[in-house]
Amino acid sequence: MLPASVRRAVACPLPPNPHPHFHPSGAVAVLVHFGNSTRKTKVKDIESQAMPEPHRPPRPRKRLRQCLRPQVSADASASASAGVRVRHLATLLIINAAVTMLMTATPTLAEIPSKEQLKALSDNIFDVLVIGGGATGCGCALDAASRGLKTALLEVSDFGSGSSSKSSKLLHGGLRSLQSALRARDTKQLLRMYDDFQERALFLKTAPHLVKPVAMVMPIEEYGDLPRHWLLLKLYDLLAGGSKLKASHFLSAKQTHFACPMLRMDNLKGSLVSYELQMDDARLCLALALTAARQGASVANYVQVQQLSPPDLTGIRLVIAKDLLSQQQLAVRATCVINAAGAFADYVRLMDSKQSVAIARPTAGTHIVLPGYFARNCAVHGLRPGEVFAMPWQGHTLVGSSDGALGLEPMQTEVDELLDKFRQKIRQDVLLSKKHVLSAWKGLWPSVAGPGSRRPLLLGSERRLLTIASGDWTNYRAMAEDTLDGAIKMLRLHPQSECCTHRLPLEGARHWTKELPLELMRSFDLPANVAHHLSESYGTNAFTLLSAFDGCHGRLHDQLPHIEAEVHYAVLFEYALTAVDVLARRMRVAFVDVAAAMQMLPRVVQIMGWRLNWTTAVQEDQMLRTVRFLQAEMGMGTVALSDSMTIAQSEMDKRIVTKKYPEIY
Ligand SMILES: Cc1cc2nc3c(=O)[nH]c(=O)nc-3n(C[C@H](O)[C@H](O)[C@H](O)COP(=O)(O)OP(=O)(O)OC[C@H]3O[C@@H](n4cnc5c(N)ncnc54)[C@H](O)[C@@H]3O)c2cc1C
Repeated sequence: MLPASVRRAVACPLPPNPHPHFHPSGAVAVLVHFGNSTRKTKVKDIESQAMPEPHRPPRPRKRLRQCLRPQVSADASASASAGVRVRHLATLLIINAAVTMLMTATPTLAEIPSKEQLKALSDNIFDVLVIGGGATGCGCALDAASRGLKTALLEVSDFGSGSSSKSSKLLHGGLRSLQSALRARDTKQLLRMYDDFQERALFLKTAPHLVKPVAMVMPIEEYGDLPRHWLLLKLYDLLAGGSKLKASHFLSAKQTHFACPMLRMDNLKGSLVSYELQMDDARLCLALALTAARQGASVANYVQVQQLSPPDLTGIRLVIAKDLLSQQQLAVRATCVINAAGAFADYVRLMDSKQSVAIARPTAGTHIVLPGYFARNCAVHGLRPGEVFAMPWQGHTLVGSSDGALGLEPMQTEVDELLDKFRQKIRQDVLLSKKHVLSAWKGLWPSVAGPGSRRPLLLGSERRLLTIASGDWTNYRAMAEDTLDGAIKMLRLHPQSECCTHRLPLEGARHWTKELPLELMRSFDLPANVAHHLSESYGTNAFTLLSAFDGCHGRLHDQLPHIEAEVHYAVLFEYALTAVDVLARRMRVAFVDVAAAMQMLPRVVQIMGWRLNWTTAVQEDQMLRTVRFLQAEMGMGTVALSDSMTIAQSEMDKRIVTKKYPEIY
């Protein structure tokens, strides 16, 4: 475990609000929100704190303001009418002002040492204390904080380190769910799916940078299947109503081959295409935690809830927790405790009452990641039970999921099963072996006992504990809203406002547009893939990241778009405390390519060590822990055997694929 000094050295404020407050003296100050405290801090010169090594000459950087200037005069001179010119100029000035505002939002490096973080937890009496920092817990914390309730969130590991970073990355109603609902004539299930579609649409408003539509291709091998499946897809569209992403449609065999060149063509008659939303689950979870903190919640990772005392005469519960970094015990008091511990919900229920009946029936699902050329443009899926899907994700191919034994380590049998099933979907002359597996992971679905095992379940106890279990990523927000509505009613809490999470932009979403990568490329002279990666991971915070760590735009891996500035940013603004936090959940490299993560590890530890004052012993310990994590949870050396790009995307491999299937590259 890391020594307490590590925590003390952590400077983990949130990035500033994009609205700096101008001090009368002319100095810019920003309001830094952390926990329930709001502090005014003078901006320090961040660039002077950038890591000295390795030395790079300062890059010439084109500011967007400069880029816009010539455009103004050129366009203006071209405009015939003065009115048009004025309007045009005004529009450009507004855009310019908005961009300047974003770019001048220099982050502060004000240190908020752990003592203060933990003191905030011990000093306050919270209205709501949430246990578990997954999608459900972070969603509840955000809902509570945004209603003006005094909120705390405790997570035993890192935010999103449970199931919430190991999902299939799809936000959907589910075609298979529709099929089974129709078979069982389950109207309730149909209504639930309708709600899921409404929820899915909200992600496009609240976190547009972290989600994107993906085309789901369903190959048709028998003409008899076509009308049945076509009707199903049209019903799916109908159920989604106004919130459908794009109408489903048919592709001929030739068009299907063009869209998915790797697909087996033997009996292909064509395909049906529907559209779903794909997300970056771990970053979405982090965005929820950060937004909750911005709304005033006290959020802490690496704090384990160990004991729940019964409510006292005033109805307040004492929660005993342990800061796993300093090994210190904390006593946190709250009127209402929400148990969002996912697959571990029963452990928390047992802390509440020894008589509580077990409700959790977790199931496990495994995914593997292959090189990107297996599914470059669209996802391939099917409706048969046990059929696997393959879809593009983070420039790679995500294949999943197979049900397996409970546990967190992906097994060889599960990986073999996924490979076998996927092999049946692709052309026979395309090589697919164990050596193509770049990464493999297993997640626990926090299902509950009973027929509707994957539906959300909200349980109240007489002792002011609410347990919210099961459900999925797609409906996390609705679950959180229902939980808080229940808590407010049952425990007579006094929120200052109604639920507003359906319109609350998450961290990095404000002012985000699809043009952001272009702006980043122009302003910071970045390659396209780096700009796209930063835009899709950090949203408009990418400006802060790039301008704050100007001298750190070098790549961490020559084949991947991740840059060093991300490590600095993760430590200072995103609560990253270990190398695993950075490699697995801030940058997602461990999830897509364990060998690449391994290659990046020494530099990541070096930067984190510099930022967090790690001793050599702590750095070595971090290296060791990360290697163990990559081996145990990401399949390195066991099931993920690919030597990164060298085997899977070696020049020779590329040449073979390019020659056979030129349309892929
Ligand atoms: C293989 C698989 C594929 C999936 N695919 C999809 C999909 O495509 N779309 C979709 O919508 N959903 C999907 N899901 C479901 C979705 O991932 C989960 O429903 C969701 O992530 C559950 O979030 P959670 O917060 O309830 O649980 P978790 O993410 O597991 O969070 C619970 C947290 O509680 C913490 N905790 C436990 N005990 C304590 C304690 N004592 N003190 C403090 N903290 C504690 C844990 O560390 C953990 O981080 C999938 C799930 C799996 C397993």
